[in-house]
Amino acid sequence: MSLVAPPGVSGRAAPSGISPRAALPAVDRVLRSPPAQSLLAEHGHSAVVAALREALAEARARADDEPVPTPDELAARCGKRLAARAAPKLRAVFNCTGTVLHTNLGRALLPEEAIAAVAQAMRMPGNLEFDLATGGRGDRDDLVDDLLCELTGAEACTVVNNNAAGVFLALNTLAQRREVIVSRGELVEIGGSFRVPDIMARAGARLREVGTTNRTHLRDFEAAITPRTALLMKVHRSNFALSGFTAEVPEHELAALAHARGLAMINDLGAGSLIDLAAYGLPPEPTVRGAIAAGADLVLFSGDKLLGGPQAGLLAGSAELIRRIKKNPLKRALRVGKITLAALEAVLRLYRHPERLRERLTTLRLLTRPAAEIEAVAQRLRPMLAQALGSDCVVDARPLLSQIGSGSLPVDRLPSFGLGIAPRLSGRALQRLEEALRALPVPVVGHIHDGVLCLDLRCLDDARDEARFVEQLPLLSKAR
Ligand SMILES: *Cc1c(COP(=O)(O)O)cnc(C)c1O
Repeated sequence: MSLVAPPGVSGRAAPSGISPRAALPAVDRVLRSPPAQSLLAEHGHSAVVAALREALAEARARADDEPVPTPDELAARCGKRLAARAAPKLRAVFNCTGTVLHTNLGRALLPEEAIAAVAQAMRMPGNLEFDLATGGRGDRDDLVDDLLCELTGAEACTVVNNNAAGVFLALNTLAQRREVIVSRGELVEIGGSFRVPDIMARAGARLREVGTTNRTHLRDFEAAITPRTALLMKVHRSNFALSGFTAEVPEHELAALAHARGLAMINDLGAGSLIDLAAYGLPPEPTVRGAIAAGADLVLFSGDKLLGGPQAGLLAGSAELIRRIKKNPLKRALRVGKITLAALEAVLRLYRHPERLRERLTTLRLLTRPAAEIEAVAQRLRPMLAQALGSDCVVDARPLLSQIGSGSLPVDRLPSFGLGIAPRLSGRALQRLEEALRALPVPVVGHIHDGVLCLDLRCLDDARDEARFVEQLPLLSKAR
């Protein structure tokens, strides 16, 4: 910040005749004030002095427009700066968007078992790459390899930072300077930054698109195979649906064609469920086991989508392909750390007990939560929210439709319940309301639909969270 007053301002004298800049209290004097003393105790000398110098510089720059601040005022400004700096950037929020696996809100919430495993992995050394039986070097993938193979039917598995990394690593290992054949109807963009053609180019593979947007046949793949072909690839459409006059090649036919020509077939499943969601009353989604059984040599999927675990990319498939992928030096650059592996192992273990999975796996519990239970939450919260918002708004409990999110099942909606808030005044009232909810200590993120701010309460399923939600509501009346 410049200490020189802008031209045109510098010539103006302060009313008293003394330069207001000269009248600003010295650092030492402010530091002796009682409010500054308590800041010193909390934040330490160097941080307080740095914040105070900033506050003084700002006061100096504004000296011609505002009265000289007192030491107490300066200490208070300094305290605000320090408080803002001390607040964590990554904060807890209430996800009332209705999207359970919300990418911008961090996707899957992890079960207590994973939270405990992560805490232990952070607190103590562990056998991340240490073989406790022999005392020799171990492989970090071994921590989850057995579980993943058991749950998917694959011969071997490996884990990287996220599914985008998995797709990149697979293409780079198996198809560098060679061609990968993909249907035009599957060249998706996910979340604005993952685009199949771009990843393919960066991985050094050449994309060979076949078919048309709505229809691709086996003969399209057959005709495109040349000596330069490395892979036939299938990509889950994830965030859009194709309907009408469409045709796609069944996975097992694609795999059979690949194998007849001595090629491999890989399948980017995206969300990749480990269980049959239909058995839990949810819309069906392809399973990893099903994709392997259909003949894919490699299946790629995310750890933090339907699996309900930490951010990770999982690769499951033939022992030979996984061996080659693990030898790629880029595997080292894309590998996951102990915190991810601790969480992943704990989550995968829950799948060994399918009878208790719905209750233990947070993602599955939220997705299968009965609308009647969510309605009860809405009925409890409605009068309290209405009271906090006062007569400016009408608050009702209403049926809503949630979605799974993260590119799974884009057209299917889950019957849910929540609160609708309609301001009595139009104009900017709705935006102001949304901002006020986002400004709470635990920000509440909803969505605006048809002039109503909707708060879907599907993801508010813990009594402690509900209490926290209620506790901060009075702050809304103060903000009005
Ligand atoms: C979500 C998705 C990805 C990207 O996965 P991340 O774990 O977010 O990196 C890739 N492919 C498909 C088909 C997806 O649905």
